[in-house]
Amino acid sequence: MKNLSTRTAGFTDSVIRRMTRVSMKYGAVNLSQGFPDFDPPKEITDRLAEIAGVGPHQYALTWGAQNFREALAQKQEHFSGMKINPDTEIVVTCGSTEAMMAAMMTVCNPGDKVVIFSPFYENYGADTILSGAEPIYVPLKPPTFEFDANVLEDAVKQPQVKALILCNPSNPCGKVFTYEELTIIADLAKKYDIYVITDEVYEHILYEPHQHTYLAALPGMRERTIICNSLSKTYSITGWRLGYVIASPEIIDRVKKVHDFLTVGAAAPLMEAATVGLKFSDEYYKGLQAHYTHMKNLFVSGLRDIGLTFTEPQGAYYVLVDIREFGYESDLDFCEDLARKVGVGAVPGSSFFRENVNHLIRFHFAKQDATLMEALDRLSEIRRKL
Ligand code: GLN
Repeated sequence: MKNLSTRTAGFTDSVIRRMTRVSMKYGAVNLSQGFPDFDPPKEITDRLAEIAGVGPHQYALTWGAQNFREALAQKQEHFSGMKINPDTEIVVTCGSTEAMMAAMMTVCNPGDKVVIFSPFYENYGADTILSGAEPIYVPLKPPTFEFDANVLEDAVKQPQVKALILCNPSNPCGKVFTYEELTIIADLAKKYDIYVITDEVYEHILYEPHQHTYLAALPGMRERTIICNSLSKTYSITGWRLGYVIASPEIIDRVKKVHDFLTVGAAAPLMEAATVGLKFSDEYYKGLQAHYTHMKNLFVSGLRDIGLTFTEPQGAYYVLVDIREFGYESDLDFCEDLARKVGVGAVPGSSFFRENVNHLIRFHFAKQDATLMEALDRLSEIRRKL
């Protein structure tokens, strides 16, 4: 038999998704892979029930149903002030996972380089390699996760750098980039003529006083920013796989082609049902923020009571906890033991860091109070069991 493609030869499977399987194996409370265990808004699920009877059940337009894209454009304008043409500036994808892959395949040629902040959501490294490019990592240094602008410039100015990936609010460290930090990134992008691909799936999950700034809305950034986003987190529908790309017509024209051949399109009935959510008033987003603030406070105050060390998140729904006191050399072994002996699933931090960081683990807290309390109850035994 001839050799298989070498493209994925160096890959491991996703550690995040592997930890869900480990949690299931040991019956652990799964705080590893980030997804809610509470229901989506009832208006959306009621609408889905209606649609089951009446459709649509066939393909939507390949780049997304018209009413869904129009509602997306209006929502984006409402929050970012950007005027978006739903016909020429949006492609609906199967989750932001496809959005990011389609953006990378649109931008990168083999041999190009892509700057990624580390720690990073693990897909970015794989997406870069699958698109034929090579990642260059710039550290966000724990525990504050700030970056050094000179180090960033040294990375961005390397020949063949085509793009930078920005996850804001950031998975896994919970950082919300400030206006000043985004201005530094924007200035470098313009100076060295690179694209910025943003992952803004946590745009509405913010803890006071932190606010989300849309990089694309900064002066001169609209034409070089490719926004990847999804409805997964904002409407608690991670299984629906509804994502989208927003960019200039020149870029979207190419993204449409990649998307057309990758997946044909997102699920038509789900787009139709989720359109209800895109039209929610500001009250919904305030409620979402209040709900997440409650979950965050419940979980981090529990961690604090147990005496664990962590960086308080500014946004998104993860917290990185320092495990040095437990004396493990491998954070993977620690997470395996945590699931098996303590009964709580977490993701080893080393799967997010390029640097040799293995003293952090990631918990997510998009969970019902009872789930979080059970996890905290089990964690209160951690020093006895590990
Ligand atoms: N973004 C979520 C996380 O980081 C889910 C990842 C996934 O498995 N798609 O846990």
